[in-house]
Amino acid sequence: MSDKKVRVRFAPSPTGGLHLGGVRTALFNYLFAKKYGGDFILRIEDTDQNRYVEGAEAYIMDCLNWCGIIPDESPVTPGKYAPYRQSERKSIYREYAERLVMQGHAYYAFDTAEELDKNRKEIPNFQYGQVYRDGLRNSLSLPQHEVDQLLANNTPHVIRIKIPADETVSFTDMIRGRVSFETNQVDDKVLLKADGMPTYHLAVVVDDYLMKISHAFRGEEWLPSAPVHLLLWNYLGWKADMPQWAHLPLILKPDGHGKLSKRDGARLGIPVYALDWEDEQSGTTTQGFRGMGFLPEAFVNFLATLGWNDGSGQEIFTMDELISKFSIERISKAGAKFDFEKARWYNAEWIKKVKGERLKAAVKKILEDKGITIKNDTYLLTVIELVKDRCTLLSDFYPQACYFFESPKEYDLNAVKPKWTEEKTAFFNKVIELQKTVEQIEAVELENTFKALAEEKGLKAGDVMLPFRIMLVGGKFGPHVFDIAALLGKEETIGRINKALVVFNN
Ligand code: GLU
Repeated sequence: MSDKKVRVRFAPSPTGGLHLGGVRTALFNYLFAKKYGGDFILRIEDTDQNRYVEGAEAYIMDCLNWCGIIPDESPVTPGKYAPYRQSERKSIYREYAERLVMQGHAYYAFDTAEELDKNRKEIPNFQYGQVYRDGLRNSLSLPQHEVDQLLANNTPHVIRIKIPADETVSFTDMIRGRVSFETNQVDDKVLLKADGMPTYHLAVVVDDYLMKISHAFRGEEWLPSAPVHLLLWNYLGWKADMPQWAHLPLILKPDGHGKLSKRDGARLGIPVYALDWEDEQSGTTTQGFRGMGFLPEAFVNFLATLGWNDGSGQEIFTMDELISKFSIERISKAGAKFDFEKARWYNAEWIKKVKGERLKAAVKKILEDKGITIKNDTYLLTVIELVKDRCTLLSDFYPQACYFFESPKEYDLNAVKPKWTEEKTAFFNKVIELQKTVEQIEAVELENTFKALAEEKGLKAGDVMLPFRIMLVGGKFGPHVFDIAALLGKEETIGRINKALVVFNN
């Protein structure tokens, strides 16, 4: 590591919901920055106005907030390199593009969209580059006086980089090692558009330079852009300041075949967004991890393991542990398969791990949304502690906890009725009678009484415990049945036995 201050950036384009791969990119940047006491910057790359989606920027910030990936500098918390939205930096970029033209590393191109379309149709694999550029309308092919005239007339034009022929450009990627590209494979990318907006290629280089970015983690899909960026760093004379790159492995579909796309979410019924994403155009909402009942701790933990491990077999990490254990050496080059079952496993583990208090607000909302009124937070907390080990998703708290707040509306009669007898009715009436005499139900005492009574009546304890559970809960699930009765309390337990006896004897 050089002694340069670590400054990393997450630079999403606000073109829609942030795919979980994007959140992982943000996370890895963040972990690296925090590990080395550096800054994590959020820069919004919104120069492509055609792809701009209203609400996407706010959504990105909500996602980062939910995950606890908090930027040190961002459009809403600007630092000294403001502004942090590229559209607001528009006036900065032209100077650099013009400088490249002056140096002969870029040129003006006057071709209209129609002319370019025609070329694309007529010439297979057409690329604006060294093979065809001389036959096109640009400042390299046209005579100088004509170029001057076109510019004087404000003829719409773009500025393109002039990719050199027959060169090899290389850099050392922090994950992949030495990576090389042949310039003959690269086309003359547009740097500045006709409307004066920079393209991604120019803006990313200029801003990484001006914002003093030291390291950059980004998705592998940006690797093909690297040669353009390398040349720009070089031509602009900033090579010594170029950030160190790390291109993260792809996140693959669950079957390992190809990159996980936003469309796979809908196709496979798995979330690919952190938060619910409302697409205004189609009017559809795609459920994200949060809406599905994930804890951010679990989501972040899961994301961190998509392409990284600490080598010890440890699977559960807090954010602080991730920060201290994160290392580039342990990021794999190979794509990471998205395994939704594993994500669910992380969530279940995290629900077990956190204190009930941490879950209280979310569980309260889930229950209240289902029409349950929570009158007593202490009671809610006890319920949460009792059932949380049985929940994989936060939404599971409804089926797992609702019966602590309202008596079952339905009973699993198939589990009771076929073996229901008069003896069992008598048994439960006796249980009621005995419980009426106690001050309050104690789980252990009730269990002892219950078992002794069963023996006295010649019944197997198991044969009456299941119906008892169904009386209290409605189904064959939940924690220890005597714990449930104790928590429900004497009145409620007796009431539920009475109510169920009517149904069972019907
Ligand atoms: N704006 C690019 C994106 O949308 C950033 C790529 C990069 O990090 O260089 O992901």
